[in-house]
Amino acid sequence: MSVEQTYTMIKPDGVRNGHIGQIITRFENAGLSIDRLELADVTEEQARANYKEHEGKPFYDGLITYITSGPVVKMVVSGEGAVAKVRTLMGATNPADAAPGTIRGDFGLIMDENVIHGSDSVASAEREIGIFFN
Ligand code: UDP
Ligand code: MG
Repeated sequence: MSVEQTYTMIKPDGVRNGHIGQIITRFENAGLSIDRLELADVTEEQARANYKEHEGKPFYDGLITYITSGPVVKMVVSGEGAVAKVRTLMGATNPADAAPGTIRGDFGLIMDENVIHGSDSVASAEREIGIFFN
């Protein structure tokens, strides 16, 4: 493995429910570094670009409405194998299936509001960092 950068963001429910500090602490405890960090609203354009692969799916419109519904915490996180590491810390997409000890398992309840986003590959990370930090 090598040092990678990944894009991750605490979604509106994670910010609203007061989980910013605990999530960042988990990243730091795992040995990851926070390279960039910003609290901001996601624009409609950024939302559509980030979730392009899901366009046309039944949950797509709700996902765009949800991710633009309030401020998020946008981050670039780096370290050895950072892409997979963040995905492991996040847990399964549906909080109902996410293991205890994972971010989604501990702080999420329903699929629509699953606390956190993380890039699924190095290529996705590069693309997403470009969308959210330009
Ligand atoms: N999502 C949803 N319903 C679904 C599948 C996905 O609302 O049936 C939302 C959920 O917020 C998820 C996002 O769409 O995080 C992107 O889905 P993906 O399958 O890429 O999951 P992730 O990579 O976030 O684990
Ligand atoms: Mg995904």
